[in-house]
This record gives sequence, structure tokens and C-alpha cells, in this order.
Amino acid sequence: MATFLTVFIASYVLHALGVTIGYHRLLSHRSFSAPKFVEYFWVMLGYLAFEGSPIWWATVHRAHHRHVDTELDPHSPRYGLKNAHVGWLMHDNYPDHINPATQAKDMVSDPIYKFLEQNGNWNRAHALNFAIGFTFRILILVFFGWQAALASTLAGFAVLQIPLMLNVICHIPKLGYKNFQSKDDSVNVWWVGILAMGEGWHNNHHTDPGSAQTGLKPWELDVSWMIIRAMKRLGLVWSVNLPKTALLKQLKETHFVS
Ligand SMILES: [Zn+2]
Ligand SMILES: [Zn+2]
Repeated sequence: MATFLTVFIASYVLHALGVTIGYHRLLSHRSFSAPKFVEYFWVMLGYLAFEGSPIWWATVHRAHHRHVDTELDPHSPRYGLKNAHVGWLMHDNYPDHINPATQAKDMVSDPIYKFLEQNGNWNRAHALNFAIGFTFRILILVFFGWQAALASTLAGFAVLQIPLMLNVICHIPKLGYKNFQSKDDSVNVWWVGILAMGEGWHNNHHTDPGSAQTGLKPWELDVSWMIIRAMKRLGLVWSVNLPKTALLKQLKETHFVS
């Protein structure tokens, strides 16, 4: 049991950070710069939590920010909870307004990402991701036993739920609070902030998507930011985008917007 719990918790934290630091703050928003080995390390951890092709993830996420809570947003709960959760995944290809060739130009020439993208065929790319994810667990089974393999698999699926859940919960105004007034429905939700390593401060994030730090108030725990800050101190990453000074000032002067 101790093995199971240790592997589950360690895998959950590492894979979740792979999604938040690798897929989200680095690939999708370029909120800091990193050498390829640091980038691949975090992205690999996210990929092993069944997150799908990195190009696909970043392109769809950029579209979410560009069209947030409109009909062109790939997963806004305004247009149905089921679609916002998993319904939007059930397509074979990109919709017409989402195109990695123009919207993820910074990633499409990377040979590894290109291979994982499978020419934009969503089903093939997801199938490849699951095949690699399960092969990884078979290796854990062979070298570390069934408890470790089961714990790693369950942690991977738990982490897969983070962005899927966040897309819905953090875009339903009554479930959270706003630090900043915005036209979209994004809100900060404390328990998502904890489970998702700092990504639950979603109103802060939509207000300043380029910032590597999303938790802004003292209690807004942002574990991903703590790791990015530590990597900066160690000289592993650079050009780290900080929150806009004007927003921090506004936050000090006002209390809750709603
Ligand atoms: Zn959002
Ligand atoms: Zn984002």
C-alpha cells in the first residue's frame, strides 16, 4: 500500500506539473524560455498523462484564449457542459478556424512534436499517445511491480482530468470569484488551484495569459510558479514573464470585483 500511495502521489504531482509548466505555461503561452532538454522533460511528463499531441494541445488552447466564451471557443460551457468537458474531443480533425500551421508556427517544425501530431489526425494522435502511455506503464510493471504500474496509470488518468475539468469549472461564474472584471466567464476556484498546481486562478490567467505566475493573492497557491521561479534561480530557464505591474497595483487597491 505504501508503494502504491507513494508512486500515485509522486506521479500525480510530476505529471500535473508536466501539463501546467510544459504544455500550458511554456508551449501554449511562452511565458518563459527554456533549453530543449528542460522543455522536453516537462512536456514528456504531460504527454505520459495522456494529454495528447503537444502541437494539438497548444493550438486548441491558444484558440480558447483567442475566442474565449464565444461560439468559436472549442470548449466554452456557455454552449453545453458536455461539449465543454469531453464532447469537443470527439472530432477527427481541426475545425476550420483552428490551424496549427499558422497558429502554432513556433512548434510545427519540431521533429518530435511533428511525429506526435500525426498530420493533424486527432484519432491517430490520441491512439499513439495511449500506446506510448501504456507502454510506459508496462515498463514500470516489469521493473517495479504491479502496484507501481497501477498507481502510475491511475495518476495519469487523474491528471488527464485536470484540464478537462478546469475548462468547465473555471468558466462557470457562480463557482468562483474574479479578481479582475472581464467579459469572459473565467473565475478563480480555490480547490482547482490546489489540484491543478496553480491553474485554478483562471480569472487571473485570462486577464494576463502571458504571465508565468497565475496565483497573485497571498493565499492563491501556485506550485507551478514556485517551480518555474526555482528553475530560474538555478539558471535552467530565463526571460520569465512576471505579472503586469498595473494589474498588481489594481489588485492592491481593490478588493473583490464580484
Ligand atoms: Zn479558460
Ligand atoms: Zn492559458
